[in-house]
Amino acid sequence: MPSRKFADGEVVMGRWPGSVLYYEVQVTSYDNVAHLYTVKYKDGTELALKESDIRSQSSFKHRKSQSSSSSPSRRSSSRSRSRSRSPGRPARGRRRSASQSREHKDDKKKTIQETSLALPVLVLFKLSENNTRRYNGEPESTEKNDTSCIILEQKLKPDLEVKHVLEQYSLRSRKDDKKKEEIYSEKKTFVAVKPIEKVPTKTKELEFGGRIGTFTLIFLLPATVFYLLLMCKQDDPSLLNFPPLPALESLWEGRVFGVFLLWFFLQAVFYLLPIGKVVEGLPLSNGRKLPYRINGIYAFILTAAAVGILLYFQFELHYLYDHFMQFAVSAAAFSLALSIYVYVRSLKAPEEELAPGGNSGYFIYDFFTGHELNPRIGSFDLKYFCELRPGLIGWVIINLAMLLAEMKIHNLSVPSLSMILVNSFQLLYVVDALWNEEAILTTMDITHDGFGFMLAFGDLVWVPFVYSLQAFYLVGHPTTITWPIAAAITVLNCVGYYIFRSANSQKNNFRRNPADPQLANLKFIPTATGKGLLVTGWWGFVRHPNYLGDIIMALAWSLPCGFNHILPYFYVIYFICLLVHREARDEHHCKQKYGLAWERYCQRVPYRIFPYIY
Ligand code: NDP
Repeated sequence: MPSRKFADGEVVMGRWPGSVLYYEVQVTSYDNVAHLYTVKYKDGTELALKESDIRSQSSFKHRKSQSSSSSPSRRSSSRSRSRSRSPGRPARGRRRSASQSREHKDDKKKTIQETSLALPVLVLFKLSENNTRRYNGEPESTEKNDTSCIILEQKLKPDLEVKHVLEQYSLRSRKDDKKKEEIYSEKKTFVAVKPIEKVPTKTKELEFGGRIGTFTLIFLLPATVFYLLLMCKQDDPSLLNFPPLPALESLWEGRVFGVFLLWFFLQAVFYLLPIGKVVEGLPLSNGRKLPYRINGIYAFILTAAAVGILLYFQFELHYLYDHFMQFAVSAAAFSLALSIYVYVRSLKAPEEELAPGGNSGYFIYDFFTGHELNPRIGSFDLKYFCELRPGLIGWVIINLAMLLAEMKIHNLSVPSLSMILVNSFQLLYVVDALWNEEAILTTMDITHDGFGFMLAFGDLVWVPFVYSLQAFYLVGHPTTITWPIAAAITVLNCVGYYIFRSANSQKNNFRRNPADPQLANLKFIPTATGKGLLVTGWWGFVRHPNYLGDIIMALAWSLPCGFNHILPYFYVIYFICLLVHREARDEHHCKQKYGLAWERYCQRVPYRIFPYIY
């Protein structure tokens, strides 16, 4: 018996998950383990389907020939239209011949059968059509297949979401209200009959240069951090002036590691405090939503209070500056141990809890990108915790330590203007991230990437020790800037921040509540997943306006360090590379998610990050 019925490249009819509708799809691959076919719909959407949800085209042609119309929706709607238009006109059936009448009867019988299954589909399809014309003003972007699918998917979700979809489509007329009721009543039957099944499949497209790339990065990332820190300590940090390697024993001190552990566990305690609201993340592949405690800003306030107390009792915070390299080594060792721990435990994790981006089956790749999506110890979410707490808050504390070290080393009564600017700009960035903590739940890091070496090292080492490079540089390389220059840099930072914040808020608010009256002036392209793609506002300016704002800010953070060396500009150069690469990754995911709708979006908004440049 053959293990698979349909071959790669074969054009077949695929059922849209949860519905009774079949669309023409092409088989692109088959997963022997999960017994799932990956199929591509005409609009570019890719889904994994079971064999039972796929039919050959010939079986459909046969059914079609028996029916007078290929679409039950068209038949039912045309009937109702003719009745309402002219009640006095004889019914069509009465004008027909006997054979036509028999055919019509058979047809009607079949229509009733089909409609009884398809009714919610039809009703919902029509509702969405109404809406997109009115709300979106983009009739050309509404495809019948797309919209029916949107609504079908939504219809299978819990009550609240169905309500949310209906609200999103701003339905007003009484006729539509009646349809709403039908939808609610039909929904329950559907849930019982056919729940959506989304089974995670293997990661087929490897990112970051695949196995060789990720293997290299595991060594390259720590080497880069240590190179940058060694360079920064030199009097002449020119690129060609390679720093001498320190003695190995000078890199490690038990006490420093102890302080690091204390810091990490103090942040863990703050995270566990039952203060702040608990919100749900986006639905996982099994439909479950994980709860997250939003208390990052409280953790920051408590940390600030603790540091204030330490300073009051004359604790010398520049201890951090004196042992900076040892702290970086401690953090790197800890992040490596954490990555090993999360990888080992991921081997026992159920398939559905693995990361869509880190389930390739290759050890190095999965270890680097993260095998398990949301490793948790009880309610303690390791990835979410590391994303914003020890590293991000640690970055601000390191900056403060650098400021105090500068004052002490150079005998200053007040910090330099450059140091004040760097500290203030980066403090604003961190506080903003913590204030808007909830927004992180929709980012790629949380929804797509697993927790592995990349994020553990990134969060605990790269962010605090590389992002604080400008402040570290300024301690050893004092730079004087004038007030007008400081003012100009401040304006630049404010412009970057404004773009960054308003773009992120616009998208987050739209994702949370597309029917928000404050967003009523924005247009969007509907997609087959039920989510829209904004085509006006910031997201109609470039495809990643938030990255543009972030890069402008990065430049403003480097400028206070003057132009003597390129080293303090490492951050902005690296950040452009990171965001260009991240944009390409996101673009790829969006194309898979949204297919044709994404292509339309790209046509409408041709530039990715920099208007008229890229
Ligand atoms: P984004 O916030 O840019 O989100 C990308 C997602 O937005 C897409 O996957 C898509 O997801 C949605 N989207 C894309 N286009 C549209 C549109 N037109 N309308 C509506 N939704 C759209 O992702 P990131 O996680 O990369 O970035 C978040 C923030 O973090 C950014 O400001 C970035 O600059 C910053 N960042 C900072 C870093 C640092 O080290 N300082 C590192 C990385 C990021 P969907 O449709 O599924 O909702």
